[in-house]
Amino acid sequence: MTGKVSLVGGGPGPVDLLTMRAHRLLAEADVIVADRLGPGPEAIAELGWCAEVIDVGKHPGHHPVPQERITSLLIEHARAGRSVVRLKGGDPFVFGRGGEELTACLAAGIEVEVVPGVSSAIAVPQAAGIPVTHRGTAGTVHIVHGQGPLSTATLAALGDSTVTTIVLMGVAGLERLVADALAHGTPASRPVAIVEDGHTDRQRTTRASLGGIVAAARETGVRSPAVIVIGEVARAGLLLPARPSEPVDAVRVDALA
Ligand code: SAH
Repeated sequence: MTGKVSLVGGGPGPVDLLTMRAHRLLAEADVIVADRLGPGPEAIAELGWCAEVIDVGKHPGHHPVPQERITSLLIEHARAGRSVVRLKGGDPFVFGRGGEELTACLAAGIEVEVVPGVSSAIAVPQAAGIPVTHRGTAGTVHIVHGQGPLSTATLAALGDSTVTTIVLMGVAGLERLVADALAHGTPASRPVAIVEDGHTDRQRTTRASLGGIVAAARETGVRSPAVIVIGEVARAGLLLPARPSEPVDAVRVDALA
C-alpha cells in the first residue's frame, strides 16, 4: 500500500510552537525529512519520536540537498508504504517551497496533507515585541523575500508609513535593499529592526533608522536567519516606553526586546 506525505509547518524553532496536529503526525511518522530552520534533528531526537530522520537542511560548509532530490525522497518513501513528514521551518506555504512539493507528490499520485505552522514572518517580530500591525500605526503588512531587486509593490510599501514591510532571507542583500529603498524615496528616518534567531536563546534585535541600519548591522555582525522589519511598528518604545537616554536612531541591541 502507498504511504502518504504530510507537509508540516514546524514553526520558528521551539518544539512547543509546533501545533498539536504536527506533534501527532511526527509521533506517527516512519520518516521525517527535516530542514535547517524550525525544530531540527536534535529537537526531534529529544522528543523521542522514533522515525528515521533525514536531514536535508543547509549547514555551513555543507551543500543543501537539491529541491528535486528532496521531492524524490518524499515520493520514494511514500511509495514504499511509509508515512512521511516533511518538517519545514515556519509555515510550509510561506517561502517554503511547499507548493512545489505538494504538486510533485500529487502528480506522482501520492496522498498529501498540509499542516500550517507559526510563520517567522509574524512570530519573529512578535518575539522582539513588534506587532506587525498596530492600530493607528500600521494596518497593512507586506511580506517579501530579500533576494533580487525590489519590485514596484515593495517600493510602494516601503514608501508608505502605514505599511509594515517584512523581509525574509534578507541579510545577505541588506545593503542593496537599503540603497534601493533610499534611492526611490523611502525616508532615511524609517525605523528598522532586524531580529536574528527569533524564539531561540540566541535571539537578538538590532534597531536603527533605514539610513543607519547597514552600519548598525555591520557593527553587531547580523547573521542569518533573521527577519527584517521596516516600518513605524519597528520604532523602539512603540509598546513599551523607550529608555530616555535612547534616541530612536541609536543602535540598540538587546537580548529579548
Ligand atoms: N517558511 C518559513 C520561511 C522560510 S524562508 C516561515 O514561514 O517562517 C527562511 C527565512 O525565514 C530566513 O532567511 C529568515 O528570514 C526567516 N526565519 C525562519 N526562522 C527564523 C528564526 N527562528 N529567526 C529569524 N528568522 C527566521
